[in-house]
Amino acid sequence: MNKISLSDRISGSLFGLLLCDSLGTAVECQISGSFDPVKSLRGGGKFQLKPGQFTDDGSMALCLSIALLDNENNIHSSIKQMNLYQRWYENGYLSSNGECFDIGITVRIALNKFISNSDQSETAYYGNTSDKASGNGSLMRLAPIPLLYYQDPSHAVIEAMNSSKTTHASLLCLDSCRIYTALIIGALQGFSKDDLLNTDHLFVPNGLSNDYWINNPLDADVFKVINGSYKQLNPPEIKASGFVIETMEAALWAFYHTNSFEEGALKAVNLGNDADTVGAIYGMLAGAFYGIDHIPNEWKEKCYFNDLIQTISDELFRQSQIRTNVSIVYKKILEVYDELAKFYSGTIKRRVLPCPKQYKSMEEFNEDIQQLNSIYENVLKSLDEDQEMITNDEKQLIFNRSKTILKQFLILIEDDKHSLTIKWLRNVNPFSQKK
Ligand SMILES: [Mg+2]
Repeated sequence: MNKISLSDRISGSLFGLLLCDSLGTAVECQISGSFDPVKSLRGGGKFQLKPGQFTDDGSMALCLSIALLDNENNIHSSIKQMNLYQRWYENGYLSSNGECFDIGITVRIALNKFISNSDQSETAYYGNTSDKASGNGSLMRLAPIPLLYYQDPSHAVIEAMNSSKTTHASLLCLDSCRIYTALIIGALQGFSKDDLLNTDHLFVPNGLSNDYWINNPLDADVFKVINGSYKQLNPPEIKASGFVIETMEAALWAFYHTNSFEEGALKAVNLGNDADTVGAIYGMLAGAFYGIDHIPNEWKEKCYFNDLIQTISDELFRQSQIRTNVSIVYKKILEVYDELAKFYSGTIKRRVLPCPKQYKSMEEFNEDIQQLNSIYENVLKSLDEDQEMITNDEKQLIFNRSKTILKQFLILIEDDKHSLTIKWLRNVNPFSQKK
């Protein structure tokens, strides 16, 4: 067992997921060998993202994190989880570019059912139970479950299944989430790769009984992968498809055959096809295993909304130790993000797109940017009025991180400004001047 702190493993896992998602989207849907191999974060790809922008995998993992942290007891609410996915789907909440630009079919069907059902019961399990609906959409966002509940692995595997059932309820999806939760917990506990990937005796983390997988057996297809199929196979047999079994096999193949976070990340995403999700699934395990310090600094710096993500990761760590009220730092920074996101997505982004209220002049546009700045200032002003106990260090941290969140929105706004300017230039009617 090596000595990497738990908080470094937790942030390694969350950033690992987001950064490998971002790394992979550059070659998402492309056939392996048909593209220049990915060597670093380069953006582009099917959604023409900027380096460091993540896709649905990352956004859904952040939504799940916030849903889990929003509960004071240890049982997560599937309704809160789906509510946040709905905010992402409809308003681009926790998206890296302020909009929901990609969504899996299985997730979309489940979310539409959730949205159209006004009578919500205690659970929001809308996942299809058919094996044919065994996409990788619940495994790709799994990390927050083992990160938060690692001290109680039997609770964690149950919550892993519950979090999957909201959108993916097939046995293959549920069992993939169960075993992968056990592996991430094992990585957090500092087990070696030989232990985690042992095929003589399936890995069981501390806290689960040794015969756990005998008493709670895995589906045969999941077992085949965990029993080491990825050790024998290579591409083209290793496929980075959207099928949960093949995605997990590809992620473990990359993890098994490499010796550093970066090497494995590049091996995973250069399979192409569903590269972002193979990346995300590799990244959440490898990040927990190697720790945050082994993720290239250049990647971490480029990660969109990295200060918000660090805040979420800090809170996951804090709450994994003892379940208590959320910290003032987390609460305030999330409030700043929420308020800015609401105005950015609900007003600015909407008025950039064609609509009756679309911006007609740069003045109108600048007025709204001004408004965004005042929202930021007002949220922070309330810090001074807060009666809650807060230290100067905490205050400073809130200011620093909130400022980078504001800057991140201003960077997104620069892109909007660019597209508006192009539109206005194109719309200039040369004849209107001749009178
Ligand atoms: Mg994606």
